[in-house]
Amino acid sequence: MAAERLKCKECGTGYPLEARYVCERCFGPLEVVYDHGSTVDVAALRRRIQGGPEDVWRYADFLPLAGGPPGPSNHLASRAGLPAGWTPLISADRLAEHLGLREVWVKNDAANPTHSFKDRVVAVASARARELGFRALACASTGNLGNAVAAQAAALGLPSYVFIPADLEEQKVLGTGVYGANLVSVNGNYDEVNRLCTELSAEHDDWAFVNINMRPYYAEGSKTVAFEIVEQLGWEMPDRCIVPIASGSLFTKIHRGFEEWLELGLVTGEVPAMNGAQAAGCAPVANAFAAGEDFCQPVKPNTIAKSLAIGNPADGPYVLELARRTGGGVDAVSDEQIREGISLLAQTTGIFTETAGGVSVAVLSELARRGEIDADERVVLVITGDGLKTLDAVRGTFHTHQIEPTLDSFEATIAQAIA
Ligand SMILES: [Zn+2]
Repeated sequence: MAAERLKCKECGTGYPLEARYVCERCFGPLEVVYDHGSTVDVAALRRRIQGGPEDVWRYADFLPLAGGPPGPSNHLASRAGLPAGWTPLISADRLAEHLGLREVWVKNDAANPTHSFKDRVVAVASARARELGFRALACASTGNLGNAVAAQAAALGLPSYVFIPADLEEQKVLGTGVYGANLVSVNGNYDEVNRLCTELSAEHDDWAFVNINMRPYYAEGSKTVAFEIVEQLGWEMPDRCIVPIASGSLFTKIHRGFEEWLELGLVTGEVPAMNGAQAAGCAPVANAFAAGEDFCQPVKPNTIAKSLAIGNPADGPYVLELARRTGGGVDAVSDEQIREGISLLAQTTGIFTETAGGVSVAVLSELARRGEIDADERVVLVITGDGLKTLDAVRGTFHTHQIEPTLDSFEATIAQAIA
């Protein structure tokens, strides 16, 4: 496989491709390093990608699995399961016009099997977990990850253990339990759930906690968002990408995806400006960005964007560095702006996003309002999840006309409504 080893992001110490996530020397996070060889036949690699399956495995050369690139002879059993990825990239002309921008695209990851981008990361983590011999999937979740782990485990015929904060949206709880997961609701916020799961992963070393002991592999799945954007733009780069921030992993890995393809010469141009989006009620990264700091001060989350409610984001410092280096930024928006963002996207594109998507739309609106997006820019808005998962956010934002089943009643009511 092209994946060569794990490497500490802080001190560079190398480790074998095992179920480990933290450096024994400095406690830094580990990430996967690839060796694509000294000479890459770019044309052949492009053809291989274009001839691959319409899911994340078309990018197998850039994912940390054994078995090498896809082909007729190596559709490995480890890659079975619920297919994820290859979601639509939609030209959002009416949204662009509304905001006074030239070109806005929506990467609609609500189109994944459990309606969020988490199906990508779980597909990769669970495939690697099976290669390593694990027989159960587990996670600490703010909601979407629980849906994806429970569904993927069901597809693979494995047991799953999903740990969630007790105050989660009902739609996300129902959308996990239905798959037969062992669902554990914890009286605490996500940061506390995550701490508990870190302890549990040491006790249950036969459980693959996708976002803890499998984290280096899990995180790699997010690069496929960048690969798809480039391919769907006709092998071109966007100028700017707007990505919601919870742990910051999605943001850093979308950036890494763009960078990896530029380094290999699969695409030309520059890495886009990377803009992070947070809710004001949980904005440790946006706060640090505004204050010019390199590290985040943890916060106690209080926002309707519960899927982004991580008060102590693991990848916060890396997000700050990348946002500054690429000429992007990190902004925070109020719950009211999030609701407006959901409505604006729905009414200009026909896409109903969850609160996290409302955060991204609201940040795009803010950047446009402040004149921080150049007239000729090509902007990609990453929509990570479906609005049916957070229905409470839109309750009360519109009016339903109530009538009797008669023409008179219809005419009286509508006439009243438009008067
Ligand atoms: Zn280290």
